[in-house]
Amino acid sequence: MNDDYTITDWIRPEIQQLSAYHVPEPGNAIKLDAMENPYQWDAALVEEWLKILRTATLNRYPDPAAHEVKQQLRAVMQIPETMDVIIGNGSDELIQMLLLTLNGKERTLLALEPSFAMYRLIAQVVGMQYIGVPLQADTFSLDIFSMLEAIEIHQPALIFLAYPNNPTGNVFALEDIEDIIEATTGLVVIDEAYAPFTDNSFMSRLGEYPNLLVMRTVSKLGLAGLRLGLLAGSHESLKQIDKTRLPYNINVLTQLSAVFALQHYTVLEKQTQKIRADRKNLLAHLSTIRGVQVWDSQANFILFRVTDAQTVFENLKIQGILIKCLHGSHPLLNNCLRVTVGTSEENQAFLQALREAM
Ligand code: PMP
Repeated sequence: MNDDYTITDWIRPEIQQLSAYHVPEPGNAIKLDAMENPYQWDAALVEEWLKILRTATLNRYPDPAAHEVKQQLRAVMQIPETMDVIIGNGSDELIQMLLLTLNGKERTLLALEPSFAMYRLIAQVVGMQYIGVPLQADTFSLDIFSMLEAIEIHQPALIFLAYPNNPTGNVFALEDIEDIIEATTGLVVIDEAYAPFTDNSFMSRLGEYPNLLVMRTVSKLGLAGLRLGLLAGSHESLKQIDKTRLPYNINVLTQLSAVFALQHYTVLEKQTQKIRADRKNLLAHLSTIRGVQVWDSQANFILFRVTDAQTVFENLKIQGILIKCLHGSHPLLNNCLRVTVGTSEENQAFLQALREAM
């Protein structure tokens, strides 16, 4: 073998430049960093679920089309009957499938910034051109003029709009989104990951626009461990995107568990209603702490700013509370932190620790 040989010679330069998506080890900390639902099921429900799991045939491949899961998802998420559904191993996988489908020479993905980091990261992995259009400073509302200009210049194949947006928690103005959908010839994906925590949705409007798709996940609903997301839209678009899906992407245990969980949707709904009520409380308390600037939220997390985010983050960690430090991730997020709404007790513990951490 040639002495000059190194394996990295074979790694694509754009992959070499990437840093892997980092997930911190929580240890024993109260985990308020990943927008999970903090509640588990009661013992009776767990027993019922385990009975179902005993019927799993692990020697067989799962239903490749996950028919029953889709049926349940259609019912609880009120997907219009005329629309198709495809499912992914988390909505992360659907983002990857979309980009694999649309990528090509001179194909651009347009997204807002700051927003969900995986849009950009997956674009880099598949080698698709990515353009980020900044939100307005301090309000994080959509700058529709910059957005329409970017659409005109870049003619994007795809636009992602997180609605509500992560990590800012707001929903963009309806008219702005409508203008964007009408201005582009590319696909527009409304990413409704935080749908359980808002009354705003484009799901019922899918039929109005041929280029509109709605993406959802069960993660924030209380089933993050299952890894299950869905994309709803016209048959014409989805039949193409589905070609990039790996066979059997939703495993047997996830399919059985998701059907069971969605049959007990009212349990999850009760939990998310509680989270919504606790969000209001947490927001009210946060806004009374001197030196904290807080933004309203339609999601299960709250964005806030302090004078020294990194120090506050570290101090919270020492006190056993893990949240997300966004400082350095985008200029508009200077000294910003994001906390997931936990149980009432966790929120109290966080508030007390924050007062000490400031
Ligand atoms: N979209 C948004 C806006 C998100 O914040 C997240 C997760 N944080 C996802 C999609 C991915 O969700 P999952 O892969 O768990 O379905």
